[in-house]
Amino acid sequence: MNDYVQSTLNALRRRCAHESEFLQAAEEILHSIAPVIDRHPEYEAAGLLERFCEPERVLLFRVPWTDDSGRVRVNRGFRVQFSSALGPYKGGLRLHPSVNLSIVKFLGMEQVLKNSLTGLPMGGGKGGSDFDPKGKSDGEVMRFCQSLMTELYRHIGPDTDVPAGDIGVGAREIGYLFGQYKRMTGRFEGVLTGKGLSWGGSLARKQATGYGLLYLLEAMLTREGLRAEGLRAVVSGSGNVAVYAAEKAMQMGMTVTAMSDSAGFVEDSRGIDLELVKQIKEVERGRIAEYVRRRPGSRYTEGARGIWQLPCDVALPCATQNELDTEDAKALLRSGVKAVAEGANMPLTPGAAALMQEGGVLYAPGKAANAGGVAVSGLEMSQNSLRLSWSFEEVDARLKGIMQGIFEAAAAAAEEYGQPRNYVLGANIAGFRKVAEAMMQQGCV
Ligand code: NDP
Repeated sequence: MNDYVQSTLNALRRRCAHESEFLQAAEEILHSIAPVIDRHPEYEAAGLLERFCEPERVLLFRVPWTDDSGRVRVNRGFRVQFSSALGPYKGGLRLHPSVNLSIVKFLGMEQVLKNSLTGLPMGGGKGGSDFDPKGKSDGEVMRFCQSLMTELYRHIGPDTDVPAGDIGVGAREIGYLFGQYKRMTGRFEGVLTGKGLSWGGSLARKQATGYGLLYLLEAMLTREGLRAEGLRAVVSGSGNVAVYAAEKAMQMGMTVTAMSDSAGFVEDSRGIDLELVKQIKEVERGRIAEYVRRRPGSRYTEGARGIWQLPCDVALPCATQNELDTEDAKALLRSGVKAVAEGANMPLTPGAAALMQEGGVLYAPGKAANAGGVAVSGLEMSQNSLRLSWSFEEVDARLKGIMQGIFEAAAAAAEEYGQPRNYVLGANIAGFRKVAEAMMQQGCV
């Protein structure tokens, strides 16, 4: 590998030794872009890779809040403003007990390239907290969100940093965060995306990541002369991304045979009843295990990982990072999986990703495949600036166009660099080139 890439990677391993998820993401990206660095020796003198790998700013703060019994709790809040080369920082907030600096940095770095791929003017950032919304009352979630925003508001704004949702942050949390931002600043402006439809949100934002995933999958299948219709899909997770990935898969004529949450998975060979999943997960905020009590003939198994042992044509991991490892990949290959498209960020371990590629499986990495969410967030920002709202059909059509454009850019870059069908390489290169050019043009900042 190129010496400059290697030395940057070595330095990163020393400086970020405890940030395993960040290193995992950075290693994949740096390996992919090495051939671009070969063509641009001027990047070394400009310290471009060192700058690319270091977030512009990391914010870490205390989030005190009061639980329903009157006890004061303290969580950690994070915002990593990774890169503003292409526009204001843009990326979600995650609320999950596993959140730490390594996870937020990995997500931030992925977001920089993902946002670049959309073609919209957005830099990359990510944030969140180790707060666990599960089992908390509405009041507790509200007080937590208000406290988080009481610190965060001074670092964000419609032209500086525009957060959105991610794991554990949906419409309810965005509402509480926006309310507090407005109260702290006195301004009603497009500082968050994923807002309610009556106060600046975009139609199709809720569906965007899941639908976008299927639009990209369809483009990838079409290139091979394959059709989505009739294929069996397994979808992990049952949150925002998973539900709307399943919905679009069904609309395309696929059968979704299983879904999961962090505790286990349900199998339904007739095809998952998605309205029931929505009722349980979106309305009741319940567990997926509840599905089998209301749907005779379906089956529940404890343990989320077991879902990858089920045979399928298409695997859509839509839960979380590193949820599909080499053993799972081997099981999928044995069952003859044709395509894997990542709804979640980095859901395959590096070993699993390598097995898929060696096995000739069509493999769409998250930074391309799940870019639909941030793409429609970008469209929400445009609508807010224009003080207009577009119809569902209009947003959906733009989303489809953007996803097709992302696929074509990744496919073209993979071909140009002599590895056709390697969409990991293609997406990393296509995303990186624009960021690198902008960084060079903007000087050493
Ligand atoms: P949600 O909180 O809506 O849903 C997350 C789902 O994943 C839930 O079913 C949850 O189960 C499950 N899950 C979470 N953690 C784990 C775990 N450790 N093991 C197994 N299952 C787990 O989040 P989203 O749907 O928004 O996000 C899912 C993924 O998609 C994340 O990787 C996110 O970064 C990525 N993404 C999201 C976008 C968006 O627009 N929302 C955009 C692009 C990517 P349980 O309910 O039991 O916790």
